[in-house]
Amino acid sequence: MTGPEGILAGRDRAAAAAAIDAHGTPESEWLAAELPQRLPRLELPAGPVVVVAAHPDDEVLGFGGSIAALATAGGAVHTVCLTDGEASHGDTDPAAHRALATRRRGELAAALAELGPLPTPVHSGLPDTALERHEDEAVAAIVDVLSATGADLCVAPWDGDLHSDHEAAGRAARRACRATNTTLWSFPVWMWHWARPQDTRVPWQRTAVVPLQPEALDRKKKALARFVSQLEERDPGGTPVLSPEEIAHHTRPFETVIR
Ligand SMILES: [Zn+2]
Repeated sequence: MTGPEGILAGRDRAAAAAAIDAHGTPESEWLAAELPQRLPRLELPAGPVVVVAAHPDDEVLGFGGSIAALATAGGAVHTVCLTDGEASHGDTDPAAHRALATRRRGELAAALAELGPLPTPVHSGLPDTALERHEDEAVAAIVDVLSATGADLCVAPWDGDLHSDHEAAGRAARRACRATNTTLWSFPVWMWHWARPQDTRVPWQRTAVVPLQPEALDRKKKALARFVSQLEERDPGGTPVLSPEEIAHHTRPFETVIR
């Protein structure tokens, strides 16, 4: 996910940035919105499916339960992680970045193993917090995997998530899908923090839910627990990237996609 450093600034986005600096929308508010009752329900395809992440953990936060369900059913789910999330702790020291990149690749491998039998993820190694300047390379990486796997569906971060890397990943996936005639579903990550249930910046008319069976949700929770670098305090007494409030948004018995 990477911290608020990547949040876009701008006239229309000031409110979102302020919301991220302040407290996010409580999960109780989202629960009260009864999204599974109000939004259409989607069935997962048989596969193959390609899931794109900007940082190691986006794919699990946004679609991990569905990945588990697909893997359990024998579907092929390929994952592409565009950056190693090496900037999540705010360091600028290259050695610290290399160490965190290695650690986060290991966490992702462990997390994906919790979800089920999955192919080894593709790591593109593009720079964290600077993905928008490497969007063409991201498109090429996603096209490669879509072409090699013959996937019917690509699932990627939402290009309206108000995080520069997530938006760049979403735009790259959209371009790659257009080039390969692949269906795209997008998943929000930060949106659950900055948006409210009636927020007009969210395209609710294109939004749907994928219900999760208890076993898939349980696998997702175990996978999320593997992202220790994002769950622990970044400095003694500091805040984690993924607070319990953020985790609550991503451990519901359903996942949400924008089509
Ligand atoms: Zn991310």
